[in-house]
Amino acid sequence: MNLHFYNTRTRQRQVFEPIKAGRVGLYTCGPTVYWFAHIGNLRAYLFADVLRRTFELNGFDVTHIMNITDVGHLVGDGDEGEDKLEVGSKRDGKTAWEIAEFYTQAFLKDSERLNILPATKYTNATDHIPEQIAMIEALEKNGYTYKTSDGIYFDTSKLESYGRLGGQKAEEKEAGVRVEMGEKKNTTDFALWKFSPKGEQRQMEWDSPWGIGFPGWHIECSAMSTKYLGRTFDIHTGGVDHIAVHHENELAQTRGAYDTLQANFWMHSEFLTVDGGKMSKSLGNLFTLDDLAQKGFEPLAYRYLVLGAHYRSKLNFTCEALWAAQNALHRLRSIVREWDKPGDVGCAEFENDFLAAVNDDLNTPQALSLVWKLVDDKELPTKAKSRTLLFFDRILGLRLDDVIGKPLIIPAEVQALIKARDAARTKKDWKTSDTLRDEIISHGFSVMDTPEGTKVR
Ligand code: AMP
Ligand code: ZN
Repeated sequence: MNLHFYNTRTRQRQVFEPIKAGRVGLYTCGPTVYWFAHIGNLRAYLFADVLRRTFELNGFDVTHIMNITDVGHLVGDGDEGEDKLEVGSKRDGKTAWEIAEFYTQAFLKDSERLNILPATKYTNATDHIPEQIAMIEALEKNGYTYKTSDGIYFDTSKLESYGRLGGQKAEEKEAGVRVEMGEKKNTTDFALWKFSPKGEQRQMEWDSPWGIGFPGWHIECSAMSTKYLGRTFDIHTGGVDHIAVHHENELAQTRGAYDTLQANFWMHSEFLTVDGGKMSKSLGNLFTLDDLAQKGFEPLAYRYLVLGAHYRSKLNFTCEALWAAQNALHRLRSIVREWDKPGDVGCAEFENDFLAAVNDDLNTPQALSLVWKLVDDKELPTKAKSRTLLFFDRILGLRLDDVIGKPLIIPAEVQALIKARDAARTKKDWKTSDTLRDEIISHGFSVMDTPEGTKVR
C-alpha cells in the first residue's frame, strides 16, 4: 500500500518513496532543555511518534534521530539575547550543564508517559561541537559566511534557493517585520557561531578557528542529521513554527556546505492552542503533563485527545475536551477487558481500512473512528476484534495490550473497602467515606460515585 504525506517543501500531498528500499531516515527537531516541555511541545513529538509507528507498521526499518538542544538557542529570534540554558541556570540556581541534564530526563520521562517510542538515538548539540565547526568551515570555504563583531553569520543573499521552504525572501521579510539587525547584512542572515561576550565567561563555550564561543541554534541540526542520516535523508519533522526560520536555515546550511537537499520530505505539525492562541511559555498559558495529573488527567488521555485531531489542524485545548478524551479511553478499556484474548486471525477488512487511513497523511481521527466501529461490531468474535485492536494500537499507542482480555480483578481487601465506604455513605458519614476513598486510591484504583454506589477502575 502506498504512503502519502503532505510535504511542506513541495506544498503537495506526495507518494513517499524511500531513498533506500525498506528503510526510512527520520530526523525530528527535539526540545530545548531549559524547562519542562509543555503539552503543546509534546504534540509535536506525538506527531513524529505516529509517523514513525506508521512506517514501522508498514514494515519499514526506521532510524529516528532526535536532537537535544542544550546550547545556542537564544531568547531572541534574531540571534540576540541570552542563551535559554543560561536563563534556566540563573532561574533554578544550577549550572547550565545540570539544567540540560535535568530537563532532558524530564523530557524522556514525559515521552515515556505518553508512550512515545524512544528515538533510535538522541543527539546533544554539546556533544557535536567539532562536527558543527567542520560544517561552518565548509560554508566558509564555499563563500557563504561573513564575520561581525559578535560572530560568524550565514549570508542568505548568496544562496539562490533561500526562502523557498517558508515562502519568504529576504526582501519580503524586511517589510513590516522588526528584526534585530546588529551588523547583519540581510534581515534573514543568521548566526553560525557566536563569540562569548567580551570579558565574560560563559558556562558553555568552546575554542574554534574564529574565537571562543558557541554554535548558533540551527547548525546543530544540519551537522547532526548529516552525521547520522547522511547528506540527504528521507524525512525531517518539526512544528509549524520551525518552517520559516529554523528549517529554512537548516536547508540553507546543508545546501551551502554540501550542495545537497537535506531531506526530501518536510513535515510539520500544527499548534496546540488555548483560546485560539498559541500555547507558549512567554504567554504564560501553558500546561505540563504534571499540571494535567494534578487535575486528575492521565497522560494517555492527552495522547487520545491529540489522536482525535489531524496533525495539520490546530487543536484548541480545553479541560472539557480532555475529560471527554479520558472518558472515551476509560470506556474503551472497560469494554475490551471483557473481550476474549487475541486469536490467530484478525479482521482483515478493518486492518486494511486502518492502514489506508494512517497511510493517507496520518488520518488519525479516521483511525480512531475505526476503533469505535470495531467496538460496535456485533458480528465479529471478540478474539478477532482483540487481535485487530492490538494491530491498531501499534500506531495509537494507547497501551491497550495491558487491558485487552484482562478483566479487572478487584482484590478482596479493596472489595471490603468499597463495601465499608458504601455503608458509610448510606449513613451520610462523609468523613469516613473520604478516608476509605483515599485508602482505595492507595491500592491503585480510581474511585467513582455512581447511583449504584462506589465503582472502581
Ligand atoms: P522548543 O523546545 O521551543 O524548540 O519546541 C519544541 C517543539 O514544540 C517544536 O517542534 C515546536 O514547533 C513545538 N511547539 C512549540 N509550541 C507549540 C504549541 N503551542 N503547539 C504545538 N507545538 C508547539
Ligand atoms: Zn532542528
